[in-house]
Amino acid sequence: MSKIHNFSAGPCILPPQVIEGAADAVTELNGIGLSLIEISHRSKDFVAVMDEARQLVRELLNLPDRYEVLFLQGGASLGFLTTAYNFLSPDGKAAYVNTGTWAKSAVKEANFVGKAEVVASSETEGNKLIPEIPHVGSDYDYLHITSNNTIYGTQYKSFPKPDCNLICDMSSDIFSKEINVEDFALIYAGAQKNMGPAGTVLYIVDTEKLGKSNRPIPSYLDLQIHIKKESMFNTPPVFPVYASMLMLRWLKDLGGVKEIATLNRQKADLMYSEIDRNSLFVGHAEAAHRSDMNATFMLKDENLGAEFDEMWKAAGISGIKGHRSIGGYRASMYNALPIASVQALVDVMKELESKKS
Ligand SMILES: *Cc1c(COP(=O)(O)O)cnc(C)c1O
Repeated sequence: MSKIHNFSAGPCILPPQVIEGAADAVTELNGIGLSLIEISHRSKDFVAVMDEARQLVRELLNLPDRYEVLFLQGGASLGFLTTAYNFLSPDGKAAYVNTGTWAKSAVKEANFVGKAEVVASSETEGNKLIPEIPHVGSDYDYLHITSNNTIYGTQYKSFPKPDCNLICDMSSDIFSKEINVEDFALIYAGAQKNMGPAGTVLYIVDTEKLGKSNRPIPSYLDLQIHIKKESMFNTPPVFPVYASMLMLRWLKDLGGVKEIATLNRQKADLMYSEIDRNSLFVGHAEAAHRSDMNATFMLKDENLGAEFDEMWKAAGISGIKGHRSIGGYRASMYNALPIASVQALVDVMKELESKKS
């Protein structure tokens, strides 16, 4: 496998075993003489894949029986709309926290369906923090949050406790640390940030909270239909589901979410201590709200940019250019990124500093 240190913000780095296993299955699945991508999704070999993927999600996150797991399509972006159709009633309203680009997109889509109100926002602070969230009462159908803000590098350290359903877009930190699923009526996450390749989106839903939006729902957006069909209402995205299943197996073998959380903490500590220590760099997000997944930072003197870029590229580092909306740098440290890659980046930052002093 390559020696590239892959800090891509999404699609993300995957463990070499996952890439190899997925490649093997494309050539031939389970010794059946056929490829994963040329057999019926209703064949026993693929049904077993879907079942295992859903079961691994249950195990890794300790799901109570009333929660269902789905692997669908449309990305988190369609999830914004699916959320509203399934949980927002025609005369009700939903509360949203605007913590950046994706959170804002969620508001936009919900407004196609019903009334979505922004109850807290970090926009005037340049999305450098998670804002104070007022108590959200039962007069709202749900409160929607974005647990990790991939672009700005902020992350909730604890979750609000509204008197209504809590719904979370966990696209960029699902399976990165332990969560109490019972706090949420719905969690959804595009696979490509921390779970697998692009092409599938995971839904984890409390079935007791479904079926109450009191509106007609187009079939593909109706989570109850997908549950009834066990995630096979239509042809599922077989390859991304298979690769995600391998990634979840990898995570289980590693010791599960508790173990990966420790490793993620170590990577984030290493990264942020260098950002804070190094006289040439400054972090973007406020320290108390920093993301363990996406570290955003800048050079204090932009004139050093060309030299720094040349140095990290020469060190085999890839994907740390910041998102076009905020510039600077972004080191995405998803589950599969080894700490050695973070160390490689830290070494380059130190080297730049010593050259300049
Ligand atoms: C990338 C991202 C999205 C968009 O996901 P798609 O699967 O591309 O629709 C939504 N929310 C968050 C937090 C993201 O990081």
